[in-house]
Amino acid sequence: MQKLKYERPFIKKLNAGVMNKFATGNQSNPVTEIDGVPVKKLITEHGSPLFVLSEKKIRRNYRAALRAFDTRYPKVQFAWSYKTNYLNAVCNVFHQEGSWGEVVSGFEYQKAIKNGVPGNQIIFNGPGKKPEELLLAVQNDSLIHIDHFNELYTLIAICAGLSQKPRVAIRVNMDTGTYPLWDRFGFNYENGEAWSAIGKIIASGKLQLVGLHCHIGTFILNVSAYEKATTKMCDLAMRCKTDLNNPIQYLDMGGGFPSTNTLKGAYLPGIDTVPSIDDFAEAITTTILNFGFKQTELPLLILESGRLLIDDAGYLLGTVIANKRLSDGRRALVMDFGVNTLFTSFWYDHQVSPAQEFNPHLEPMTLYGPLCMNIDTIRENVNLPLLNAGDQVVVHKVGAYNMTQWMQFITYRPGVVMIAETGRVELIRSPETLEYVEAMENQVQYSK
Ligand SMILES: *Cc1c(COP(=O)(O)O)cnc(C)c1O
Repeated sequence: MQKLKYERPFIKKLNAGVMNKFATGNQSNPVTEIDGVPVKKLITEHGSPLFVLSEKKIRRNYRAALRAFDTRYPKVQFAWSYKTNYLNAVCNVFHQEGSWGEVVSGFEYQKAIKNGVPGNQIIFNGPGKKPEELLLAVQNDSLIHIDHFNELYTLIAICAGLSQKPRVAIRVNMDTGTYPLWDRFGFNYENGEAWSAIGKIIASGKLQLVGLHCHIGTFILNVSAYEKATTKMCDLAMRCKTDLNNPIQYLDMGGGFPSTNTLKGAYLPGIDTVPSIDDFAEAITTTILNFGFKQTELPLLILESGRLLIDDAGYLLGTVIANKRLSDGRRALVMDFGVNTLFTSFWYDHQVSPAQEFNPHLEPMTLYGPLCMNIDTIRENVNLPLLNAGDQVVVHKVGAYNMTQWMQFITYRPGVVMIAETGRVELIRSPETLEYVEAMENQVQYSK
């Protein structure tokens, strides 16, 4: 064991009022390795900060989620939500496991095609599809999920000159008892808009209405919201069959299942409060199975889960740059990664573990990033042992929405490695360089 650093004695005010009666599970052991690979080695070889993904965990998460649904329901298909993490290495693990692709822009659509996803296994969602992107999706027989009437009319116009009838669904929004309502995407159920869109699609004669889609929100903690949503989707599907003689082939219930991260301001840690995927699967599948479809006419159930499948498979390794006392005596650390790199620190209280032996005395402190910006706070208040410049940390559950929402702002975006199931470490995205960042700039000379 390495010799612990001397820390000068410090008199601390007792904050008796904020004592926590719950065991918050603050680690008493350092996290020195990930999937058997030493953190020190990863940083020495690939630099700091560094994102680390675990192939083993991704596959385990995917299989557990699939099992939760396909042990309860006969026809299940997952579609990987590209925006959650569209590094190709990640997408390809999901596709290898049998996942289709779920994309929300022309850019993501191109990525899915380039990853070899067959056109008819790409779900094209989102409110901003351009006419040329819609045309490509029609030609590739992709599943187009219509978001608004403007898109519906554009698509009908595109198909006027085509013999092909694209396979479409509508996105439906509804009151699921979680507020604020997510009514900005798709057609509303309660006010009849969704039914009216369905009628227009069928009347057009240009499109095949094969599915119904919803995505009721993200990080939904309420199982009953899915039960309500599923009931409303089944009702629409049933009416498509009985009233319009247009049976629905699939119900796409979207994503939104929470990871076990702790939301900011939550009273208890996520690991103790978040419902399991089995709870969600039970609610969704029993609702469909009990709705009254004939056994042979049960719709395919599509899930577009993102966060749940990847969040805990991602880690961020970082290093302490400085250790300071604020004017009120509180300790603060300056880390080598900020909110530009760890976007989800705006939403989550990420668990941060020291990566080396430490003094067991914990103290509340603030973790800042290296940006010259007041908003750059990784954790407002976290109990950690004394950490010094050069000490390393592991930030947990960062696999979702960071490697897509990270900003190239003030610093370069760091490298990403994937630890393969074999234990091999692959650099799946290189750290950025000046050349990379400037590659899209054009050299223009202005004369005075
Ligand atoms: C973002 C998104 C998802 C994935 O959501 P998670 O909350 O990460 O599961 C699925 N479907 C659509 C349409 C989305 O926009």
